[in-house]
Amino acid sequence: MMPVFYIGVDLGGTNIRAARFTAESHKPDRKVKHATRAKSGPGAVMDRIEAAIREAAGESLEQVAGVGIAAPGPVDPHLGLVLSAPNIPGWENVPLQADMAQRLGRPVAIGNDANLAALGEWRFGAGQGHADVLYLTISTGIGGGVVSGGRLLVGARGLAAEVGHMLAVPNGPKCSCGQRGHLEAVASGTSMARIARERLEAGEGADSALRSLVGSDLSGVTAAVVGKAALAGDAFAAGLIADAGTLIGRTLASLLHAYNPSVVIFGGGVSMLGDVLLEPVRAAARKHAMSEAYWRDCPIVQASLGDDAGLVGAGVLSMDLTRRQARPIPAQAARS
Ligand SMILES: [Zn+2]
Repeated sequence: MMPVFYIGVDLGGTNIRAARFTAESHKPDRKVKHATRAKSGPGAVMDRIEAAIREAAGESLEQVAGVGIAAPGPVDPHLGLVLSAPNIPGWENVPLQADMAQRLGRPVAIGNDANLAALGEWRFGAGQGHADVLYLTISTGIGGGVVSGGRLLVGARGLAAEVGHMLAVPNGPKCSCGQRGHLEAVASGTSMARIARERLEAGEGADSALRSLVGSDLSGVTAAVVGKAALAGDAFAAGLIADAGTLIGRTLASLLHAYNPSVVIFGGGVSMLGDVLLEPVRAAARKHAMSEAYWRDCPIVQASLGDDAGLVGAGVLSMDLTRRQARPIPAQAARS
């Protein structure tokens, strides 16, 4: 019997990564990376996605049962549309699913990258064995995904689980989405760095290691620098991370009330800090939860797939797509 392959693609503002998977394993047997060259226009980016998929498939495109693509920003997985992609100029309402299916002659499904990272962590990472998983990614932005009753929750327009855009501080700082006070605007890596610079400029943290790490140019204060100082024992830096963790933990309490997961998984670069971030998260979630039952048997843990969560999740999406092929896939059903 000819082997069957699945392709997962992680479309980012900087790189397009594609991987070929064999049935049901999360370890790809081929992996390729192409520059996105986001400014080159939607058509050119589409060409490079196709090239990455063809290269990952090798000689065996005919044996590819399905292609899953993780796209940044809001995605309508039912219609196969990328509604917008924050780091890819000109990508508005791009029919990525239909275009790529036509170019390749293979079934294609798409999803939001954080949603698919949740799918990957659930099936092959820190969420294995659970049916109710809450995943949050804390990096330059904040995103997430929810698996409820063994199914990825995407919502009517595919826009569910935008946990970074829940209100954390009424009338707070402006968010990347244009609203004010969303969690992403006060607790993402980008926000953490901005708050650090503001407080240093205001004269706080006079003896903080952050000052010696970046010198007089405070623009060098990034989330990575704050994290490094905190891990080295700098109290001011650790306080900044604890503040972010507390805000995340309060929002998490609301999410526990909404979804009642049996595990909460934190991914993304800032989560690599581990307990420096997660202990304040746990403490705040416990403090604000209406009952101990929400967190007593619900570990709050770090993700285990690292940078590959979205890529693996896209692979899982392609595997699930082929399982559904006896029925029309939702994207086709919705378009006809
Ligand atoms: Zn927002």
